[in-house]
Amino acid sequence: MSAPAVDKAELAALAADLEGKPPAEILAAAAARHPGKIALACSFGPEDCLLVDVIGRAGLLVDLFTLDTGYLFPETYDLWRELESRYRIRIDPASGGPPAADPGVTPPWQVDADACCDARKVQPLRAKLATLDAWVTGIRRDQTPERASAKVLEWDARFGLVKVNPLAAWTSDQVWAALAAGGVPTNPLHQQGYPSIGCAPCTSPVAAGEDPRAGRWRGSEKKECGLHWPRK
Ligand code: SF4
Repeated sequence: MSAPAVDKAELAALAADLEGKPPAEILAAAAARHPGKIALACSFGPEDCLLVDVIGRAGLLVDLFTLDTGYLFPETYDLWRELESRYRIRIDPASGGPPAADPGVTPPWQVDADACCDARKVQPLRAKLATLDAWVTGIRRDQTPERASAKVLEWDARFGLVKVNPLAAWTSDQVWAALAAGGVPTNPLHQQGYPSIGCAPCTSPVAAGEDPRAGRWRGSEKKECGLHWPRK
């Protein structure tokens, strides 16, 4: 079922009104516009942990889900349970199927990482978003050049629904300060050289001075999984 038609000019005006407002206010406005049809896509990065905290503390009517590829780090699965327990919420899995079980078979990320991301991330996301009118992300403008023009509310033409980016204007330092102030659980791997954490087979630690996403699909041109923008 596709999302109802959205007045793009009205959305742009609302985004302008909400620019600079606290994430809780942006989320509350979005939740009021899309009752029962809005969800946070939680990847358990620091931005998403902060949004879980905002949603959980304020009791906002925003559902939560995560793309469970089957290849997440054990620390990520632990964090998933910790957040659910702490905020008494449920973060639903969206899955593209169980991981390959046969150790004799070449793993899918080695065969074709783009196809693996498509099957385990993009297609489950597309199926989940087809049930929603709006999705919430932890995108910040200074993360990548592609994210630099993100609005706090915008039309996602690729998936056909509203995209809500409450932290679009935030810096990484602001996010970490808010996490520390709130005592919000985060992935312990961030303190072990992993500023950006995806699937375990495709994420390596980064050295001082490297781009924070340098450890994602290291050694390949691939830098996005295709969730927010088509892959390069
Ligand atoms: Fe597969 Fe790696 Fe993409 Fe995860 S990040 S879905 S393991 S290619």
